[in-house]
Amino acid sequence: MHTIEDIEVVRPGGTDYERVRHVYSAKGSPATVLLPRTPGETARSLAFARNQGGPLAVRSGGHGISSIATNDGGVVIDLRRLNGVDHLGGATVLVGPGARWSQVAHGLGDWGLALTSGDSGDVGVGGLATTGGIGLLGRLQGLTIDRMRAADIVTADGRLVRASPEEHPDLFWAVRGAGANIGIVTSFEFEAGMTPVVAQATFAYEMTDAAAFLRSWGDVVEAAPREVSAFLYVGAGARPFAQATVVFASDDANAASAALEPFTRLRRLAGQRAGMTAYANVPLTSGAPHSGQQGAAMHSGLADHLDEAVSGGLAELLASGRAEMVQIRSAGGAINDVAADATAYAHRHQNFSVTAVSTRPGPAFDDAWAPVRATLDGLYLSFESTHRAADVEAAFPPATLARLQRIKKRWDPDDVFSQNFDVSPAGASPR
Ligand SMILES: Cc1cc2nc3c(=O)[nH]c(=O)nc-3n(C[C@H](O)[C@H](O)[C@H](O)COP(=O)(O)OP(=O)(O)OC[C@H]3O[C@@H](n4cnc5c(N)ncnc54)[C@H](O)[C@@H]3O)c2cc1C
Repeated sequence: MHTIEDIEVVRPGGTDYERVRHVYSAKGSPATVLLPRTPGETARSLAFARNQGGPLAVRSGGHGISSIATNDGGVVIDLRRLNGVDHLGGATVLVGPGARWSQVAHGLGDWGLALTSGDSGDVGVGGLATTGGIGLLGRLQGLTIDRMRAADIVTADGRLVRASPEEHPDLFWAVRGAGANIGIVTSFEFEAGMTPVVAQATFAYEMTDAAAFLRSWGDVVEAAPREVSAFLYVGAGARPFAQATVVFASDDANAASAALEPFTRLRRLAGQRAGMTAYANVPLTSGAPHSGQQGAAMHSGLADHLDEAVSGGLAELLASGRAEMVQIRSAGGAINDVAADATAYAHRHQNFSVTAVSTRPGPAFDDAWAPVRATLDGLYLSFESTHRAADVEAAFPPATLARLQRIKKRWDPDDVFSQNFDVSPAGASPR
């Protein structure tokens, strides 16, 4: 094993290099991959990277859609060794950024707990829990960041600080939505929920009229009790089809079947399966090594309702053939109980996250997305693969962005953490 100041390091030509160079959505050729095991080693890794100059990437699970957790010729700080999942008592858990959400779900399940994250168990804790976390327990539990009670952070100057409502509250506000801008989180304290067993249903629908179907889908989701979180995946093509994962966050089978029944009445139901299961089985998990295998581009936005404008725009996008898939994740419920200025993620009135996916990135996809984007309100950064200043401004409304820029100036005056939707005036328009 090679080390720099006792920190494990992998370089080109090393036996493990193929295992650590790429991420899920991009290939990379970093000059140095550091694998710290402790917060202190993380701080020293950062000091090493700053000394080197050149590109820096911070990586937790490597599943980021914006492909910035690797680089060419630079330093990667890979947090996979910081992957503990510990029970602190009651519903409080301590989770390392390098853990994957499947590991978290299984660990918590053993303690009778469950924490909302997303639909993929392969996603890392660090990237998701610094941006939002729109998950399949979300309408009951809120965003993943809403369950955060504290975070330990290595700041740009190498200090180890704890952020909580009492300690550095400005950092605690910023880490819940814009964490990548202000430091490297080395552990998260979360308050989980008490629903280790849930009802899970999958539905398949044939879509004769995509716009009408999406409107009805939106109505059913909004009318559902907040135990219900529902994700819809719509494939484009001559005969668009939709598949849905719907979770009822309780082990009450009778209440679950009543809550799920409206989803069976949507036209045209082509198949369904439902049952009680451990929540740990819900996030889809492959465990596949990263080789840059997911080359698709994604655009993202949020919607209050799947009204005529949004549904019509999405139906046109699907018909255009410029996007292969549209994903609609429920937000709302407990997510919207939180005040818009309580966290750096400010979107607390929208009921849906809307994402378009294309395996042919480029202007044709961007142009086809533009009319849909015009119907949406706000943006969730975790589903956006481009890095335009306009995306930063859509993600952070003016008052949020101004507050973030003040915090950034205080904690990262040299803009060390500029890679991930930089909120400094260099990355977004100054206000
Ligand atoms: C298949 C798939 C399904 C998904 N489904 C959902 C979903 O249902 N809901 C949802 O909300 N999101 C979802 N996402 C998006 C996901 O939340 C983001 O891509 C997230 O950034 C991935 O986290 P990661 O740690 O694996 O990423 P990484 O690629 O490791 O990190 C991405 C970036 O986040 C920042 N970062 C990472 N770790 C830290 C840290 N410890 N401290 C500070 N900054 C850090 C860095 O800038 C880094 O470059 C999905 C993504 C994929 C690929």
